[in-house]
Amino acid sequence: MKVLFVASECAPFVKTGGLADVIGAVPKALAALGVDIRVILPVYPALARVAKTGKIVTKFDELFGGEARLIAAKSEGLNLLLLDAPHLYDRPGNIYLDDSGQDWPDNHLRFGALCFVAAKVATEGIKRWKPAVVHAHDWQAGLTPLLIRQAGAKTCPRSVITIHNIAFQGLFHWTVKDTFSIPDELFTHEGAEFWGHLGFLKAGLSFSDKITTVSPTYARELLTAEFGMGLEGVLQARRGDFSGIVNGIDLRAWNPSTDQALAKNYTSRSLGNKEQNRVALRTRFGLGSDASGPVFCVVSRLTEQKGLDLLLEALPVLVGRGAHLALLGSGEKHLEQGFLDAAQQYPGQVGVIIGYDEELSHLMQGGSDAILVPSRFEPCGLTQLYGLRYGTLPVVARTGGLADTVTDADDAAIKSKRATGILFTPVTSAALRDAIHRTCDLFDQPKVWRSLMRNAMRYPVGWDQSAPAYLELYETIATK
Ligand code: ADP
Repeated sequence: MKVLFVASECAPFVKTGGLADVIGAVPKALAALGVDIRVILPVYPALARVAKTGKIVTKFDELFGGEARLIAAKSEGLNLLLLDAPHLYDRPGNIYLDDSGQDWPDNHLRFGALCFVAAKVATEGIKRWKPAVVHAHDWQAGLTPLLIRQAGAKTCPRSVITIHNIAFQGLFHWTVKDTFSIPDELFTHEGAEFWGHLGFLKAGLSFSDKITTVSPTYARELLTAEFGMGLEGVLQARRGDFSGIVNGIDLRAWNPSTDQALAKNYTSRSLGNKEQNRVALRTRFGLGSDASGPVFCVVSRLTEQKGLDLLLEALPVLVGRGAHLALLGSGEKHLEQGFLDAAQQYPGQVGVIIGYDEELSHLMQGGSDAILVPSRFEPCGLTQLYGLRYGTLPVVARTGGLADTVTDADDAAIKSKRATGILFTPVTSAALRDAIHRTCDLFDQPKVWRSLMRNAMRYPVGWDQSAPAYLELYETIATK
């Protein structure tokens, strides 16, 4: 089975969030199942070095305003097709935003071009390689299924689109449809049109053969007005083709027994070694050595979605219980300032680093006792999965993939050795405060806490189940 992944980011090359981790990991898991898989990505500055090691497979004299080349390269165990179009991608900083934090004004061209070339590879093939299935990820890849459909039924490979976060839909002025020669019959309410705009994600949802999202609970939530962000009707109409497949993580990149970013490696049989990581973490965050409660951490974008304003409200309880907080994140200015102020207000108890630091994020998983994820919605969430793997108990809102991957430490689950963390609902600061109290109560019972850590570390967080689920899905459409 030949499969083409279309995505805008991929770890370890370029990452703004969980999407990159998934794109970096699933292809390897699928390749291990015998899938011949390639990943098409734009050549941002972060990929220039890899692009130089590859071979040009196609040239475009003119691709939406400039010359471009498609380069085949191998790196980090992935077969890459790199779209080198400097006029679109050779820009410093964030891959989606300009210096002032606004979307690049030509994002429709930047990601439309990616879809255009992906659809070309899909329908015409390159160097005798032609995919049976094209798997598009998020709005940036959303036009691909439409463009494939437009190319005609005979040569069409099948397509899947995965929603990693429905909050980002890629909505553009309706005239953009002409840039991509989208005919009026596809620009309808049942097609690519969304309230007068061209919707890249909407196009993907309307024209792909299958739709997935990254957890079963988020799939159910997306069918409701509360979570569907205006696309719930489209998803309801395509219910029969829509399912949730939970994300896994890269077990090699995230392994406490080999992780180079840790001060000391450990396994579930040497949990005492976690202490050295705790010491290293305290030093990095200026935390005192006097915590009588757990060390909580947060590694997150600081946005409304992530519910961290609720944590600011609940902080007096956390420090009142003798716990500490180490937070690494960046995002909305008022949240960044809120946490910086909290670090001033509770010196030695609350430590805050504003920024993005992949290596430090590993030490945080290794050196904390619990990881807080109070999200208002969470398609899957990855940091709680890293937490499970590192014996850092997730304290999470009962929503989306958080609800699917963490088992609440109620009495029955503790007794049956299934409990792996704390879940709370509704997503309010009062419920979060209760969850912090419950976590501290459990932490005060070292035997119970240790057994929770072991349960967490045993929980399967790899791709063992989800990669075969994707393959099965591809097989149902490819053989049709
Ligand atoms: P989302 O994709 O919504 O941001 P996820 O939990 O799915 O949330 O994935 C976030 C990914 O980004 C995780 O791998 C997490 O460790 C990483 N991450 C988030 N913020 C930071 C940060 N400030 N520094 C390092 N890694 C971060």
